Amino acid sequence: MSSTKTPQAIRGTQDIFGPEAEVFAFVVETFERVRKLYRMRRVEMPVFERTEVFARSIGETTDIVSKEMYSFEDRGGESLTLRPEFTAGIARAFITNGWQQHAPLKVATQGPLFRYERPQKGRYRQFHQLDAEIIGAGEPQADVELLAMADQLLKELGISDGVTLHLNTLGDGDSREAWRAALVEHFRQVRGDLSEDSQERLEKNPLRILDSKDPRDRAFVADAPQIDAYLSDEAVRFFEQVTSGLDAAGVAWTRNPALVRGLDYYRHTAFEFVTDRLGAQGTVLGGGRYDGLIESLGGAPTPAVGWAAGIERLAMLVGERAPQERFDVAIIPMDDAGLAQANSLARSLRAEWNNVEIYATGKLKKRMARANDAGALVAVLIGEDEIAAGEVTVRDLHDGEQARVAPADVSGIVAKAQNAQWLRQTEHSGIGLPDWIDPDA
Ligand code: ATP
Ligand code: MG
Repeated sequence: MSSTKTPQAIRGTQDIFGPEAEVFAFVVETFERVRKLYRMRRVEMPVFERTEVFARSIGETTDIVSKEMYSFEDRGGESLTLRPEFTAGIARAFITNGWQQHAPLKVATQGPLFRYERPQKGRYRQFHQLDAEIIGAGEPQADVELLAMADQLLKELGISDGVTLHLNTLGDGDSREAWRAALVEHFRQVRGDLSEDSQERLEKNPLRILDSKDPRDRAFVADAPQIDAYLSDEAVRFFEQVTSGLDAAGVAWTRNPALVRGLDYYRHTAFEFVTDRLGAQGTVLGGGRYDGLIESLGGAPTPAVGWAAGIERLAMLVGERAPQERFDVAIIPMDDAGLAQANSLARSLRAEWNNVEIYATGKLKKRMARANDAGALVAVLIGEDEIAAGEVTVRDLHDGEQARVAPADVSGIVAKAQNAQWLRQTEHSGIGLPDWIDPDA
C-alpha cells in the first residue's frame, strides 16, 4: 500500500512555477545586470561545507548555528552542513584558494540556502538569496558602494517605495565589547522580567536581546544603553564617512541604533532594508562589515563587507509589477511539410533574438486562440497553399492585418509589430514621444 503512495515534498521547500517563477527569474536577471554595473565578479560556491566553516564564523551562540543548520555525517564520517548563508563559504574560499591576490575582491553569487526554521509566508527551509561581498577593502567607500548597489537593485526591481534602509554602526571590536558589557549590566537588573529566550541571550549573546520581538523585552530595549556612548573616535569617523558617502550617492537611509543583526562577525556598519508590506518577514536585505571573520577562520586579518537578500521576499514585493516577457511570433503549421518550414523559420527568427513558439498540434482555431491568449504579436500560418507558393501567411494579432509574404520577409514585419507595440506602451504610459519619431511610419 505505502509503496504506491506518492512521496510528498519536504516541509519548507517550494516548487516554484507560473507567475511566481517568472518573477523569481526577473529578480535574478535584474541582479545580474546590476552587479555588472558595479563590476562585481560572479562566483559559484559549493552548497555544502565542513560544519566548522559555519560554526566558527557565524558563531556557536547564534540562532543559525545553535538550531537552524542542516548538518549530517557523510559516508566518510565527516560533519558537513548545507550552507545557511553564503558569506562563510566565500570567506573560506578566499583563504583556501589564495584569492588574496585579487583583493579587493568584489564578488556576487546567488542560489539556495538551508535553515531549519518554522515554515511560513516568506520563511522557508530551502530559500534563495542574492549575495554581494567586497573582501580585502577596509575603507568606508566599500560599504557605500555595496549599499548603493543594493539601493539600485531595489529601484530596478520597482520596489524601492516603502522599503527603508536602516543603518547602524556596531563600532570596532573594543566599542562593541564595551557596549556589550553595558547591555549585560542593564538587562541583568531586569533579568526576571525578560522573556525566557532573552534570559538565555543575556549570557550568550546579549546584543540579540535588542532584536527581540517579544513584548516583555521591548520596554527594556527602549531604554537600553546605545552604541553611540561607546564608540571610539575612529569608529565615529568611519560611520560619518559611510553616511556622507551615502548622502553624496543619493542613497536614503535612516539611523536605527537598535539594529544589531544576528551574527557574531559584524563590526562597524550594519544595515537592513526593511518593509512593512511583508508582515513579520519584513527584512528583505541585510548585511554589514565583517572585518574579523576571515581571521576567525584562520586567515590573515582581512577587512570585508557584504549583504544578502532573500529572493522570495523580493519577488513577493515585485508581485504583479514584473514585466511580461515579450512574445514575438507564434508559428502555426498545418501539416508535416508545414512543420519542417516552421522549424526552419523559427531558427532564423530566434537567431535575430525574436521569442518564438511553434504550435504544432491541435485544431487550427484552438491554436490561434492559444497564440492570442499568450500575447503573441504576430502569427505565421504555413499550409499547403503557402508551401506551394514558397510563402507564408503573416497575421498581425493586434490589428488583424494579414498578408502573404516570403519567409525571409517575416522578420521585417515582426520588427514593425514590435515597434508599434512599443509606441502603444509609450503612449499608454504618458511619456511624450520625441518629435523626430513619426508614430505612423
Ligand atoms: P530574519 O530576521 O527574517 O530571520 P535573518 O536575519 O535570519 O532574517 P539573514 O541571515 O540576514 O536573515 O539573511 C538575509 C536575507 O535572507 C533576509 O533578509 C531574508 O530576506 C532572507 N531570509 C533569511 N532567512 C530566510 C528564510 N528562512 N526564508 C526566506 N528568506 C529568508
Ligand atoms: Mg533568521
